[in-house]
Amino acid sequence: MLDIKKIRADFPILKRNVNGKPLVYLDNAATSQTPQQVIDAIVDYYQNYNANIHRGVHTLSQEATDKYEQARNKIQKHFNAAKAYEIIFTSGTTHSINLVANGFSSLIKKGDEILVSAMEHHSNIVPWQMLCERTGALLKVIPMNQEGELRMDVYDELLNNKTKLVFCNHISNALGTINPIEEIIEKAHKVGAAVLIDGAQAAPHLIADVQALDVDFYTCSAHKICGPTGVGMLYGKENWLNKLPPYQGGGEMIAEVTFEKTTYAGLPHKFEAGTPNICGGIAFGAALDYMNAIGFEEIAKYEHELLEYATQELLKIDGLKIYGTAKNKTSVISFNIEGIHPYDMGSILDKLGIAVRTGHHCAQPIMDFYKIPGTVRASFAFYNTLEEVDVLITGVLKAKSMLL
Ligand code: PMP
Repeated sequence: MLDIKKIRADFPILKRNVNGKPLVYLDNAATSQTPQQVIDAIVDYYQNYNANIHRGVHTLSQEATDKYEQARNKIQKHFNAAKAYEIIFTSGTTHSINLVANGFSSLIKKGDEILVSAMEHHSNIVPWQMLCERTGALLKVIPMNQEGELRMDVYDELLNNKTKLVFCNHISNALGTINPIEEIIEKAHKVGAAVLIDGAQAAPHLIADVQALDVDFYTCSAHKICGPTGVGMLYGKENWLNKLPPYQGGGEMIAEVTFEKTTYAGLPHKFEAGTPNICGGIAFGAALDYMNAIGFEEIAKYEHELLEYATQELLKIDGLKIYGTAKNKTSVISFNIEGIHPYDMGSILDKLGIAVRTGHHCAQPIMDFYKIPGTVRASFAFYNTLEEVDVLITGVLKAKSMLL
């Protein structure tokens, strides 16, 4: 069992008040909060060994390089990648996806087909649309049903020998649906297509084993798993990373440069041009240490309890509708109350110290599907409590009585 009191004491921000009320932070799907252990890793870097990496012979540079590469090893171990150099540090999921989409420009041709799910974040839609514009490939959509589950029967029909790539999130940020990625990957591979899974929303809740999944690319952002913003990772199978051209040119990513010709460094440096977010990478490793010490199985179990309780209590409110009722879902609840705009609900909740997200959650196609402008989204992390769910319910009822 998780010791929630002890866990909460690790997060300094959870002690603060917002608008005169104790903060109830329920916007974890957007960004998680940062424990002292990760803050300490950031401070330690700047206080003790801030230096540029990989090039320096001096002690600070070597210390920083060692810690940065140790962080890569932690990420490799966490996701069970076969090689450390299959982990590319990026600025986050958006950067990771753009890196792959850009690289596929030279591997995709007119008439090829790319499948993307109907419940993607914009960062897993727009880069592929841009790729299609550049190459003449066709973007096709795997639809979803009213519950917010992918129509796997239609997926089967869409797959064919023209399908070159399939992109899907592991967990939807707007609905919380956990997608059947094992089946998606296996079926895509049968027609020879590569698969990228956007793990931005899955990484805080479960551990993806990239070798067991046999996934070609997997991405995540550190700021959703108790790490800092501006850093994330791309896992790519070695043979795919070797096939893709570099995304950006610059220092660190070269073997040799002359004005006639440049040769590129090997993996992972080929994709890591310029000075990276060194401190961020190290803190990403510290965040994984922190979460693994708590344990993902315990985290998932506890978050499920929060989800069940919050769902049950929210559904008692007259006129409240939850979007995303998949059997297999994580601790994200998107809802609306008939006659109330999500923005108005979010503003009143904020006055009560409750942080939720309102709007389209960078997933406009989902809002179009449900014919709504947006939702109120409460997303729970392992440091939230059942008491905080009660505060949310009281807040929603209060907002309802004020707005209707
Ligand atoms: N995909 C999903 C499913 C997300 O939830 C997010 C963040 N909301 C992203 C991609 C983009 O992540 P980032 O902004 O960290 O690049």
